Amino acid sequence: MKILVLNSGSSSLKYQLLDMDSTTVLTTGLVERIGESIGAVRHKRFPGSPKEESFSYEMPIKDHAFGLTKVMDLIVAKDTGVLENISDVDAIGHRVVQGGDLFSQPMLVDDSVVEGIRKLIPLGPLHNPGHLAGIETARKLLPGVPNVVVFDTAFHQTMAPEAYRYAIPKEYYTELKIRRYGFHGTSHGYVAKQCAKLLGKPFSETSCITVHLGNGCSMDAVKNGKCIDTSMGLTPLGGLVMGTRCGDIDPAVIAFLASNKGLTAEEIDTILNKQSGLKGLCGYNDMRDIHARVSEGDADAELALKVFCRRVTQFIGQDLAVLGGCDAICFTAGIGENDAVVRQLACATLAPLGAVIDSDKNMHAPRGQAVEISAAGSPIKIFIIPTNEELEIATETLEVLRNQ
Ligand code: AMP
Repeated sequence: MKILVLNSGSSSLKYQLLDMDSTTVLTTGLVERIGESIGAVRHKRFPGSPKEESFSYEMPIKDHAFGLTKVMDLIVAKDTGVLENISDVDAIGHRVVQGGDLFSQPMLVDDSVVEGIRKLIPLGPLHNPGHLAGIETARKLLPGVPNVVVFDTAFHQTMAPEAYRYAIPKEYYTELKIRRYGFHGTSHGYVAKQCAKLLGKPFSETSCITVHLGNGCSMDAVKNGKCIDTSMGLTPLGGLVMGTRCGDIDPAVIAFLASNKGLTAEEIDTILNKQSGLKGLCGYNDMRDIHARVSEGDADAELALKVFCRRVTQFIGQDLAVLGGCDAICFTAGIGENDAVVRQLACATLAPLGAVIDSDKNMHAPRGQAVEISAAGSPIKIFIIPTNEELEIATETLEVLRNQ
């Protein structure tokens, strides 16, 4: 089975073609700057293998349909491709960020599903329009090939109202659906399932905390295979400190900024989403740059690192409390998988709570592998588990098709 995974944004289109029989990635790539005067397509075949080849093209890409047509051409062309015919693609799996409370599982796309995603645009204004463009283009260009949508929010739909409701007037929930949705759910679900495998337990009996630390950061509390709490909220701005997003702050800061700086709601939204987080604290949003600055004695960078790690520790503590203990804490994504210093700082005070990190295992953890970094006998295991959202989307796509 060949599954094409698409992550279609407002001006970009990421793709990955997977052979699910061998679980290998055949091609991967990115169409950038759709709708601008000059766009680009970056394409790789056989990524990560000795046969890997990269291709890059610059051209105007007027819309998603043009971009996807180009991708399909590259997938079948002799020099760049991996398939004889585009009809060898068995299904397309689409990432959709906001599924609201309409979608609690992946869905086979039909007109009513498209309508549902459209209805949710007010809750996902930055993402859902781009996803719709990708879905509608794929339906047109590959008629007869089934499309499945996999929602970032779906894994969190098992949360109880006490976890997802905000303490604001009820009508804002009933009228506007303001509540906690949580994001990165595909990553959290994948990592939690891998955690169950590492523990040798059924997923339905596995309780863990999944710590996704990338450019965006979020954390899930998973009890017996079901998400019971998540750190992000109505939007991906809440919770942990991120590359450029502030995470949780006193909500009064917004009105304070408006009245003291005369900023509009839109301006404040931009500041909190694009100029805050690590970048706001020290001027750098990439953790590798921050470590480089720390080693040069930059006090702002050191503070940014400490604020980031403190917030991770706080949320682990919060999740441990609501879970009433758990089997494992799992670090994933760019920082979670690669940054031993962050993991060490985040876990430094957790030993009395039952999670004892082994500094040596942590510092020398091999890259790109699922490994345990807790000390022998630690009641709560600590793992590094590489995430793989594309594989999870492809797996869920296959499952939907098999259950038809
Ligand atoms: P992601 O969103 O999962 O792709 O993660 C991207 C972020 O991971 C980057 O912005 C960096 O902050 C961080 N990152 C990636 N590689 C490393 C590394 N080797 N060490 C520390 N942080 C890293």
